[in-house]
Amino acid sequence: MILKKSLIVAGTLAVVLSCATNPFTGKKTMALVSNDQLFPTSFAQYNQFLSENKVVTGTSEANMVTRVGQKIAVAAERYLNANGYQGYLNDYKWEYNLVDDKTVNAWCMPGGKIVVYTGILPVTKSEAGLAAVVGHEVAHALANHGQQRMSAAYVQQGVALAGNIAIQNENDRNLFNQYYGVGSQVGVMLPFSRSHETEADEIGLYLMAIAGYNPDEAAELWKRMNALGGEAPPEMLSTHPSNESRIANLSALAPKAKAEAAKFGVTSFK
Ligand SMILES: [Zn+2]
Repeated sequence: MILKKSLIVAGTLAVVLSCATNPFTGKKTMALVSNDQLFPTSFAQYNQFLSENKVVTGTSEANMVTRVGQKIAVAAERYLNANGYQGYLNDYKWEYNLVDDKTVNAWCMPGGKIVVYTGILPVTKSEAGLAAVVGHEVAHALANHGQQRMSAAYVQQGVALAGNIAIQNENDRNLFNQYYGVGSQVGVMLPFSRSHETEADEIGLYLMAIAGYNPDEAAELWKRMNALGGEAPPEMLSTHPSNESRIANLSALAPKAKAEAAKFGVTSFK
């Protein structure tokens, strides 16, 4: 019991010592798992995922995924630089891949590793629709949402980390997969919290708008996603539960996203 208590105290201390500022909200967030520790695991898991799945290259759809990914990445860099966060993305190694899989899903792992499944393209429909999805997923990564959940899980387990974890053992790798959803088992990833979803929606809208995509398309995308619900909701909906208030919020924020884009000289959208 005494041991357990001291572990919790140590865990709490580590949290206090490793708070990071979220560049989008200015709020202090828990970042027990640093980029140095997380990115090598992320990059290795990403490469493993690609080796075990069918990557599509050279098609117009694959080229669209690359184009959207690159534009969102540039938008993220411009946005962060303009807001005093130069260097925030230094350790990022952006990569964008289309994978041949009928699952309706897309994700971005820590460090800018993006995968879009061919199954989501009929739902995204247009390049702007795809930009809404990619912008949203990149926003989760930039705000370290998965990292925060991993950190919280470590603390709940009473693990004393004090800023020095490497994701070496299988338990930790499983935790990583659970929080980033890249394991072979579809549906393992837990849904993000509502506050993380709201945050990713807003940041994602800014990114797509700065990248030149019409932010009005985000609400339309989620309406189409919702329409796929019912008996067998798509993977994307199981991790990103959508509802009327989310869609209303996206519609309400679209003009703000356009105003944000105007600061970067972007005033027309496709
Ligand atoms: Zn989300």
